[in-house]
Amino acid sequence: MERDANLESLFTVSPSCPPERKANVQKTLNLMKDHIVARKGASYDWGINDFDIGCPLGRGKFGRVYLAREKYTKYMIALKLLYKSELVKSRLEKQVLREIEIQTHLKHPNILSLLTYFYDKNRIYLVLEFAARGELYKHLQGQPHGRFNEPEAAKYVYQVADALRHCHLYKVIHRDIKPENLLLDAQGNIKLADFGWSVHAPSSKRKTMCGTLDYLPPEMVAGREYDEKVDFWCLGVLCYEFLVGRPPFESTQQEDTYRRIQAVDVKFPEYVRPLARDLINKLLRRNPYDRLPLDQVMIHPWITSQKVLAK
Ligand code: AMP
Repeated sequence: MERDANLESLFTVSPSCPPERKANVQKTLNLMKDHIVARKGASYDWGINDFDIGCPLGRGKFGRVYLAREKYTKYMIALKLLYKSELVKSRLEKQVLREIEIQTHLKHPNILSLLTYFYDKNRIYLVLEFAARGELYKHLQGQPHGRFNEPEAAKYVYQVADALRHCHLYKVIHRDIKPENLLLDAQGNIKLADFGWSVHAPSSKRKTMCGTLDYLPPEMVAGREYDEKVDFWCLGVLCYEFLVGRPPFESTQQEDTYRRIQAVDVKFPEYVRPLARDLINKLLRRNPYDRLPLDQVMIHPWITSQKVLAK
């Protein structure tokens, strides 16, 4: 009885659904329900034949991503194909398994959902939520002077902070926050993606060096142990890049970038206003314990005053 009620609520349109979309959403939900009821509760082995494959959406280091549609419900998804041989050659099997495990368990409006996955002899297929507006990085590059205005930057920083807070709640450190790993859905909301570098934080602190050079926090540059506060630093770098169009420690030589990170050598162009500088300076602290925690980022005066102005 209770199970039926749960099932019923799953197929009821959410109250937040825009009125003009309700009929279409209900139609899709009804199809999903038929599909599940027909299986009488048995689990379903998804396969490539369940999907119509559409245009390519992008290419990552190890995967190609296609727009695809589940044949029965016509539900649009992004299908990521990974070749087992390439993963084995690059010794990345563990990284992918980690990505699958982490992304299956994290459910949050600003985290890209992994809906399911399956595999055949040669490939692994990840069925991902479709982020219709694609990479935030491309959106950033398309802005006047390659930077966001304050309301848009504040909205994105808020949503990334919220997504990271959820990750940290489940003891997951992302470790690779940068505009290339953020996608936008059809409504222009952030979907945190690419959990390839993320890691379940065990009780002891970790020491592996990873992530992107410009976003590396001082403790990782120095090869010291680190914890979830590395993501606070990256959020500061991200906020700077959103407002300025390039990351704060960018240099032509790798050694100079490292040196500038260690010295926290941040220079602001004069158009970055004091409140925004205040937030960035509170995140870019050498000592991880001095960095502003995520819940306080979300209520920082620059965020609260600007994000309400975002279109
Ligand atoms: P990745 O291998 O995850 O780095 O993905 C390669 C590219 O495919 C990304 O940079 C995006 O442009 C695109 N992409 C990946 N996942 C999605 C998705 N869920 N929705 C839309 N585009 C995606």
